[in-house]
Amino acid sequence: KDTPVHGHKRVLLAAPRGYCAGVDRAVVAVEKALEHYGAPVYVRKQIVHNIHVVTELEKQGAIFVDEVDEVPPGSHVVFSAHGVAPSVVNAAAERGLQAIDATCPLVTKVHREAVRFARDDMHILLIGHEGHEEVEGTAGEAPEHTTLVGSPDEADTITVPDPDKVVWLSQTTLSVDETMETVRRLRARFPNLQDPPSDDICYATQNRQVAIKKVAQESDLVIVVGSANSSNSVRLVEVALEYGAKAAYRVDYASEVKQEWLDDAVTVGVTSGASVPEELVQELLGDLADAGYGDVQQVKTAEEDLVFSLPKELRKTRSGAT
Ligand code: SF4
Repeated sequence: KDTPVHGHKRVLLAAPRGYCAGVDRAVVAVEKALEHYGAPVYVRKQIVHNIHVVTELEKQGAIFVDEVDEVPPGSHVVFSAHGVAPSVVNAAAERGLQAIDATCPLVTKVHREAVRFARDDMHILLIGHEGHEEVEGTAGEAPEHTTLVGSPDEADTITVPDPDKVVWLSQTTLSVDETMETVRRLRARFPNLQDPPSDDICYATQNRQVAIKKVAQESDLVIVVGSANSSNSVRLVEVALEYGAKAAYRVDYASEVKQEWLDDAVTVGVTSGASVPEELVQELLGDLADAGYGDVQQVKTAEEDLVFSLPKELRKTRSGAT
């Protein structure tokens, strides 16, 4: 049926969107490992938080496990883009596993900061979501020196050993605005709070939020392609709502879009999280075109050209050393 919408229907397509350099590298790492060593290759946790990516790699012979004790001794195991605590690295070595570390270099950077601040006897206030793999990995570098701060409200209640020796670090995929609010409230309590040496929220998270802010201001509805456990995708829905979209939803697949979402929408904003393959966005655009939203205008707020080299274990295999 025709939707009761007046005005010229269109899509505003956010750019940048989708794959970041760290996700691309992690997915290619699993593919290369399968190519070099043959199936099965084990992967600890979802390599990136996207159900489609995981399903496709499973078809190619990847086996996803929760912990390294599920991996047969001697096998290859890939650590996911979110990073691992040193205890996991040690457990894999003790089990005789051949580890391939696909941790995003921008997560590794935060790990190094944690190690250094802990060595300087600073207490780390790690802003991030409890239970998220990245936070478990980063906190695992210095568990005794780390307190998790899950929200701006928690900033008002956490306690520290010495209020003059505190530094904040963060998960890479948070809302920039909410994190700044958390930091503001922490600093109100701990005026000597140190900042991280550079941004922990990564370029990809920041760029996708800037783009969706611009799109959301002009959109009736925003659709974010991304999985429910993808932190940066979920943040994009929140940011879209804060910046003026009348409604915003997250979907894994275009088929999840409900007709009623479109009922009052003239302008539909579209974006995708950092772990989302572009083909899923193209499927959504195809469905939207069928529904009358064939006019797609790109809203571009940044250029991205960052590429990370493959994990060192796979660089070796290329030259035939393994
Ligand atoms: Fe790395 Fe950022 Fe991508 Fe995470 S979202 S994998 S930190 S570039």
